[in-house]
Amino acid sequence: MAKNSTNSTMKTLLPQEPTPSVEEIEIGLLTDTDHTLPSGDQPARIIDNVAHKASAYSVAQSQFERAAKAMDLEPYLIEYLRVPQRELIVHFPAHMDTGELKMFTGFRVHHSTVKGPTKGGLRYHPDVTLDECRALAMWMTWKCSLMNLPYGGAKGGVIIDPRSHSQSELERITRRYTTEITGFIGPDRDIPAPDVGTNAQTMAWIMDTYSMHRGASAPAIITGKPVSVGGTVGREYATGLGITYVTRAILEKKIGRSLEDATVAIQGFGNVGSWTARTMSERGAHIVAVSDVTGGIHSEAGIDPRGLMRYMKANGTVLGYPGTEPISNDELLSLDVDILVPAALEGQITKHNAHEIKAHVIAEGANGPVTPEADNILNDKGTTIIPDILCNAGGVVVSYFEWVQDLQAFFWDEGQVRHQMERLLLDNLDVVMGAATRHKYDLRTAAYTIAIGRIAEAVKFRGIYP
Ligand code: NAD
Repeated sequence: MAKNSTNSTMKTLLPQEPTPSVEEIEIGLLTDTDHTLPSGDQPARIIDNVAHKASAYSVAQSQFERAAKAMDLEPYLIEYLRVPQRELIVHFPAHMDTGELKMFTGFRVHHSTVKGPTKGGLRYHPDVTLDECRALAMWMTWKCSLMNLPYGGAKGGVIIDPRSHSQSELERITRRYTTEITGFIGPDRDIPAPDVGTNAQTMAWIMDTYSMHRGASAPAIITGKPVSVGGTVGREYATGLGITYVTRAILEKKIGRSLEDATVAIQGFGNVGSWTARTMSERGAHIVAVSDVTGGIHSEAGIDPRGLMRYMKANGTVLGYPGTEPISNDELLSLDVDILVPAALEGQITKHNAHEIKAHVIAEGANGPVTPEADNILNDKGTTIIPDILCNAGGVVVSYFEWVQDLQAFFWDEGQVRHQMERLLLDNLDVVMGAATRHKYDLRTAAYTIAIGRIAEAVKFRGIYP
């Protein structure tokens, strides 16, 4: 296990930036550039959110620097890779159903184009910030590299609460955001995908808008589309199924246990959480607790994910699902279960609650759910953390398959998609486990050193332009 103190890893920060203490990273005291942002949704929350979310970028940089130090990465590569390559901020109008015009703010960040075009999700959430996009873009670079995909990382977002808009408002907002970032994206430039608050319908609007501008159909501009407009079979459940494949393999290879009969608690019941629940349950695991933004539910007897998915669709919440007791988010995280899957947002397990975690395995369904300080506490306790860039990579792997199929206009069957995804995930899992054993690293450090090493090699071959 690599145990570099966060303070020592911070020594490589650029001189003009304040050196954040661990405390600041944990509670998110750092502030982003002080934007005065027009937003269609909840403008009063923005300053608070900027202050809170700035920590995601600090966490991403801290994780990178920790691994860079462990692998003795050359200082010029640390300086080069610890910041995003390009950032775009757009402020744009959209008509509400009432006829009122509202202004919205969106972002798109490209972290690295060393390995190819950039790839990363699009998030619709009231707490989206530029710093959050920077962090998520950086994590995408490492994830794509770890999976050996010919991509760098990107992320985008719009400050919006999608639940407070009608479908027609969401369509107008999406089409105008796409238009604003149109020069920044492209099948050989940057390919967005779904993330929190967006779905296959959002992707279809983006594909259509981009195609209308081009005057020709361009399905490879985006992944996570419906199959009828060039999406791939298997993308809808890919992230959840990938989490299940990786978690099952880690249980068997590292802990000598089976997924069958393991108890599981899942935070978040959106695309990632619900499909993780369903695919784990289909392989014999017992889902004993689930939560969403409205609260959590618990049942020692087990929760049927298929039934809960139907209930969720009808009621818009997991609360009140028959046969369950209500439970708070904090209680869910500290349940005595075999596997805890944080599948909601980043920064959920911190030094403030890491001591309470009783799960033997944390499978990071979300991006960045565990902070570096919490990592240290959990590693000391012997908890196995399956890092996000490995654990939830099934989504981007199948997105890559979708892009390849769109470029070739030749589509695969579901068996082929599943088989190729499992192969890529498990081959790279073996590489990570090998490095962890050889160097006595925790899985995150092992995964990061492999991912960063592949990018570093590519930078060295390409050289620094001009
Ligand atoms: P989603 O919008 O479909 O679902 C998010 C879920 O989290 C919802 O159930 C929401 O109610 C819940 N949630 C939000 N705040 C919460 C809170 N404080 N407590 C409990 N639950 C809360 O989003 P998603 O696509 O499932 O993404 C979830 C996470 O997985 C994000 O971190 C995302 O970046 C990551 N991820 C997504 C994909 C993908 O393919 N969609 C791939 C890799 C990683």
